[in-house]
Amino acid sequence: MLNTFFMFNQNYYPYLFLIGLSVIVVAIVLIFALKSPFHFPYFEYDFDVSHRRSVQTEDLIDEFLIEDRMQSIENHQVAIERWKHECKDKISKYTFLKKYREKQFKKSIDDQNAYVFYVNRQQTRYKQRNYVKTSYRVSTTVDSFACSYAFLKFRNEKLKNINYENTLSKYFSNNQRKLMSKELRSEIMKRDNYTCQICGKYMPDEVGLQIDHIIPVSNGGKTVASNLQVLCSKCNGSKSNKMNTGFKK
Ligand SMILES: [Zn+2]
Repeated sequence: MLNTFFMFNQNYYPYLFLIGLSVIVVAIVLIFALKSPFHFPYFEYDFDVSHRRSVQTEDLIDEFLIEDRMQSIENHQVAIERWKHECKDKISKYTFLKKYREKQFKKSIDDQNAYVFYVNRQQTRYKQRNYVKTSYRVSTTVDSFACSYAFLKFRNEKLKNINYENTLSKYFSNNQRKLMSKELRSEIMKRDNYTCQICGKYMPDEVGLQIDHIIPVSNGGKTVASNLQVLCSKCNGSKSNKMNTGFKK
């Protein structure tokens, strides 16, 4: 009945079109008005590990904290608190949507995952076109880690306790000798100016020089800058002899 009524009264078509259009407009307006206006301000940080092999994300975060000393973290935490205040201000200005907005605000808060770290690696890929192979580089996220402000604060306290000398996993590693890297070696050489710290012999070619653990690894000494020094092989030899006789007594 209704169908035939509309079918045969073509005069109603413009009205039907207008009604349909206004329903769509109202729906769009409603969708936008009811959408959450709250966007939690995440802290995002990218690590580039392109030139490093087998890196642990927890070591990267420690390295970040050693460098940052919580500065950008504290700043961001202030920004998050400010954002929360601003949201509450905004909500207080709502009248009939107040409860609804409050729910949306609470749902948007994500303190547990506020700090997000991405581990990226540049990879070379190839594409072939008309028998010509060309390379291009893409950055892929190989790992990501999200944590709270409290987590970072706790981690930073632990790093502070070891004077920010190394990442936690490396500092407490049972294999301190393995941590002696080429980079650390040249860092200590430069710091001690290629000079034996006992006899003062200067050897810029590094040939007769060794890196010594001031407190030996066997006594719990760590492979960190503060426990390392440059010695000539002669002084290093007599040092370890003294140590050995000391042990026998
Ligand atoms: Zn010496």
